[in-house]
Amino acid sequence: MLRQALLLLARSHRVKDIVTRMPVSGAMVNRYVPGEHTDDAVSATKVLIDGGLHVTLDFLGEDTLDEAHAEATVVAYLDLLEGLSHAGLARNAEVSVKLSAIGQALPEIGPKLATENARRICRAARNAGTTVTLDAEDHTTTDSTLSTLRELRKDFPETGAVLQAYLYRTEQDCRALAYEGSRVRLCKGAYNEPEEVAYQERHDVDKSYVRCLKVLMAGEGYPMVASHDPRLVKIAAALATRYGRMPGTYEFQMLFGIRAEEQKRLADAGEKVRVYIPYGEEWYGYLMRRLAERPSNLTFFLRSLVSQK
Ligand SMILES: Cc1cc2nc3c(=O)[nH]c(=O)nc-3n(C[C@H](O)[C@H](O)[C@H](O)COP(=O)(O)OP(=O)(O)OC[C@H]3O[C@@H](n4cnc5c(N)ncnc54)[C@H](O)[C@@H]3O)c2cc1C
Repeated sequence: MLRQALLLLARSHRVKDIVTRMPVSGAMVNRYVPGEHTDDAVSATKVLIDGGLHVTLDFLGEDTLDEAHAEATVVAYLDLLEGLSHAGLARNAEVSVKLSAIGQALPEIGPKLATENARRICRAARNAGTTVTLDAEDHTTTDSTLSTLRELRKDFPETGAVLQAYLYRTEQDCRALAYEGSRVRLCKGAYNEPEEVAYQERHDVDKSYVRCLKVLMAGEGYPMVASHDPRLVKIAAALATRYGRMPGTYEFQMLFGIRAEEQKRLADAGEKVRVYIPYGEEWYGYLMRRLAERPSNLTFFLRSLVSQK
């Protein structure tokens, strides 16, 4: 119930107005988002890479409804890639892109514009010596996003996909994408989805995650295990062993600020671990999805909201 309420609040403009008046340094926001600017993102990346981790960066923004906004997001990614390259970090840091942030939802021209914009980011990433992964958003965008992925992979086969274990369709999508060179991030899924398309019970989502992971680990591609769930991390390591995969032929991924000690422990044990760093002014939707995953964080969040007034 609370999870659904928080995910609904993520779409409320009134609540958004109140929450976004908090400076990003508010303790709760800061825990999940290291800052609003390219420099903040590059600095946070350097700290993690120096600690033996890899990084993927997301310039926050979604529901872009005009071309100028989409263009500003592309420019932010180009600036970021230049910053990473300049700092000598691009080998260990890639970028994650939400197609909705670069125009996918615009009437009529959306998917075409988003594909063209993504192509510009892929080209800049390749020039910098790194890669792009296309984030997964709500289920109404899955077909369009996978179609853009197919287009991009013709020229940039290194482009990564994201699949969400809570969708019934995902085991089939894993089979289709488990081919050589195909980088696939598997996550549980963060949106409020109806039962027509998605498992509703945590237990069913976890079982689906394991089935999907088996397909990816047994396949020819490069699985990216995106979860903080201790049971799934253990199962992933066991499956990697079962299918004869060495560390580096798959990787673990976790979000900035969540289970940082576990990220370090896995990396120290020889695993490849990538941390997803979101940054930028539009942190509201991202923050609400993180709160929905951990309603126990809500008290802390409300307290820091009140103390800002
Ligand atoms: C690298 C990465 C990329 C992602 N990309 C996408 C994407 O493109 N599309 C999409 O829909 N979703 C994405 N997600 C989010 C994902 O779908 C889940 O919503 C999120 O990871 C929580 O699921 P979990 O597997 O960690 O398991 P959970 O069962 O939610 O959590 C397991 C444990 O992790 C810890 N934990 C989890 N969340 C929090 C939190 N917010 N605060 C504190 N502790 C926490 C707790 O100890 C919890 O018991 C991504 C996640 C990661 C890690």
